[in-house]
Formats: sequence, structure tokens, C-alpha cells
Amino acid sequence: MGVVSVWRIADWDLDVGTSDSGSIYKHQCMSCGQKSSVATTADGPDEWCLRHAERTGHTEFRGTVTTFFRSSLAQGPR
Ligand SMILES: [Zn+2]
Repeated sequence: MGVVSVWRIADWDLDVGTSDSGSIYKHQCMSCGQKSSVATTADGPDEWCLRHAERTGHTEFRGTVTTFFRSSLAQGPR
């Protein structure tokens, strides 16, 4: 009888993927659902919240940060 399958065990690392894009920030008003523009820092979305609060009186917001990861085979012994 021949070999049915071969399993290779390897260690993998998970790192923040920086080659394509950094984190993405976006905020949303919890009262009306309007959203800030997408930005690569929180500064723009934060400012949008303040302007939105001033204009509408809405004071509750939700911030979302999307971060990208990349897995790769671990290098060297562990
Ligand atoms: Zn609102």
C-alpha cells in the first residue's frame, strides 16, 4: 500500500500588513447613521464627529478601525 497523504507541520506568524495599506478609520453617528469619510488617521473622522454634533446636536458616535494582517511562515527555529 502506498502513501495516502503527507502532513507537514509548520509555524506561522501573523503581523500587521503594512505593504498595501495602514489602518483605516471611519466614524458613524449613532443617532442618524451618517458616516464620516474613510481616512488613514482618526483626525478627519474625529473632526467630522465634532462638526456633526455642532450641526445636529447628535452626541453619540461609533468608531471603526480596520487593520490588515498578513500571515507568513515563521523563519528559523522556535
Ligand atoms: Zn447624526
